Amino acid sequence: STAFSNIYQLPPDPLFGVASRCKADKRTNKVDLVLGAYRDNNGKPWILPSVKSAEESIKSDPTYNHEYLPIEGFKSLNLNAAKIALGEDSIVFDQNRIVSIQSLSGTGALHLSAKFLSQFYTGNVNNASKDLVISNNNRATVYVSKPTWANHIQIFESSGFNVDFYRYWDPSNKSLDFQNYLNDINNAPNGSIFVLHSCAHNPTGLDPSPEQWLEILNHINSKNHFVIFDTAYQGFASGDLERDAWALRKGIEILNTPIIICQSFAKNTGMYGERVGVVHLILSESEKDNEFLKNSIASQFKKITRSELSNPPAYGAKIVSKILSTPKLLDQWHDDLITMSSRITEMRLKLRIYLEKLNTPGTWNHITDQIGMFSFTGLNPKQVERLASEHGVYLISSGRISIAGLNDSNVEYVAQSIDETVK
Ligand code: PLP
Repeated sequence: STAFSNIYQLPPDPLFGVASRCKADKRTNKVDLVLGAYRDNNGKPWILPSVKSAEESIKSDPTYNHEYLPIEGFKSLNLNAAKIALGEDSIVFDQNRIVSIQSLSGTGALHLSAKFLSQFYTGNVNNASKDLVISNNNRATVYVSKPTWANHIQIFESSGFNVDFYRYWDPSNKSLDFQNYLNDINNAPNGSIFVLHSCAHNPTGLDPSPEQWLEILNHINSKNHFVIFDTAYQGFASGDLERDAWALRKGIEILNTPIIICQSFAKNTGMYGERVGVVHLILSESEKDNEFLKNSIASQFKKITRSELSNPPAYGAKIVSKILSTPKLLDQWHDDLITMSSRITEMRLKLRIYLEKLNTPGTWNHITDQIGMFSFTGLNPKQVERLASEHGVYLISSGRISIAGLNDSNVEYVAQSIDETVK
């Protein structure tokens, strides 16, 4: 007998399974389009010059050390990160409506939010009282896009939520399933929780247009749904921090309910492994200056953090904070964001042009219509398998490719491989 008689082995994470198959492939012309991390035109990881300078500056400071951060994290990171997401002159600061706490990157931000909401979100319960104990029976359903970043589902399920989907991708037109998206917002019980990708939707690369966003937000508002904005690609998508924050800032303007922002700095600083992130809870305008509510929320966030990580990691937080609070480094970071996003845009264009030149069956404009790290190609699992076995071109079975894996040395080969597979 064993102390773990109910245990069973899970299949490998599908994404990491394909990645390790690619790694084991001996062909010299193999292409990894799986990994969601930026690569330069030589296929190598890139340390941003702004990050390099900030690191040097921090380490040369005589007061530099490796002490613990406070439970809520590096204060100057939390504040400057909020300014990046909301805009320096956001009314939210004047109205004293924000609570921020450092998290373990975007994943930790989502987990902290899920745990917090599982204990305290009563927006969907009629006559919520102070004594209400939230059980699974009266817990709101969390709605995520179909498809979404796979981790969303298990993060919310592991905090006891039921997770359901709102329709998003229309495979027949390779575009937004807009009317069904709105229908699903309207059909969800009032006060449900909606997870929205604020830009560069993962895995499709497809974002709503500004007009569509306004309709989405207005429908959500009329149903009093609670929104979590997952912000993992600000600045990485278009190269412009303001533009990539447009939908989120509109959300703050339009929605009458509080909002949570889960902010990751993994992609836009290239510091994937340093786990820099922040959760911001924005109170509704009617709750402005409510110190009691703000302090209560902050204390509960801190309790969750204390029990799970004691205090968040310091190194990356200091680097990001240094960049955000030093005008010269901030300018450099803006340049770095343009370097990354324009290489991605260029690769989208080249892939599309090569496919169109080859007269590859189908339409390929969606590759350049989409934005950010990923593109939903529309390739089916059989084609994906053939690309791997016959051409050494690896992507996940949904047909999602990481554009960051393309470069001037392999984009034509990838187009030819797709062409031969589709024809
Ligand atoms: N949210 C989305 C949509 C993502 O694509 C990712 C990373 O791939 C994350 C959140 C979280 O990433 P991290 O935990 O590395 O910040």
